[in-house]
Amino acid sequence: MSSALKPLVLIVEDEPGIAEMLKYNLEKEGFRAVIAVNGEEAMLVTTEQSPNLILLDWMLPHLSGLEVCRQLRRAPKSKDIPIIMLTARGEESDRVRGLNSGADDYIVKPFSPSELVARVRAVLRRTSPALAEEVLRFADIVMDLASHRVRRDGHDIHLGPTEFRLLRHFMLHPGRVFSREQLLDLVWGHDVYVELRTVDVHIRRLRKALNEGGGEDPIRTVRSAGYAIDTKPS
Ligand code: CA
Repeated sequence: MSSALKPLVLIVEDEPGIAEMLKYNLEKEGFRAVIAVNGEEAMLVTTEQSPNLILLDWMLPHLSGLEVCRQLRRAPKSKDIPIIMLTARGEESDRVRGLNSGADDYIVKPFSPSELVARVRAVLRRTSPALAEEVLRFADIVMDLASHRVRRDGHDIHLGPTEFRLLRHFMLHPGRVFSREQLLDLVWGHDVYVELRTVDVHIRRLRKALNEGGGEDPIRTVRSAGYAIDTKPS
């Protein structure tokens, strides 16, 4: 799996040993991970990198994990990002408060790396099923994210890396129309300078590859709005 396809986990933890251990184990299991050492940094990283999930330690300097959780839930950009709180053993009332403040789950320290990874996967599966899955399906198109294979109606489709990311993006949001600007931002990344018409070029390539074996064109062009993967209204 290329790195852009892996879910990004933000680790908010001030103890370097624990933060590095978490990062190491998540990366080993196919996630990307980034560390923030306090609440302020966590808010900043969240805004800039839109992580797919946040592991939030309860005990942080300055802003407590609980307060960070509340702030994340209030901010439009982060209100839907799943949060797992890391708490010390026995702090039952803390856990309840954590869940009340908007956390999706909590995990009690000390925990084993495999337990943690299992919880991360479980929360992702619940909150964003497509991210936890390794295989995406739309109509007769099957995308295996792990092996990087795309098949349509049982036949292999060969895509370049950009077309692969485009298709993945569409398949994660079937029926939703994305403008060229949005696609540039979401598929190419906002720090890359690419002309808008580049999007059209790659859409054309994606379309050609998908439709080579016949069958209906799954990419819908919405005039002056953008593109979507869609089935024709019947
Ligand atoms: Ca801590």
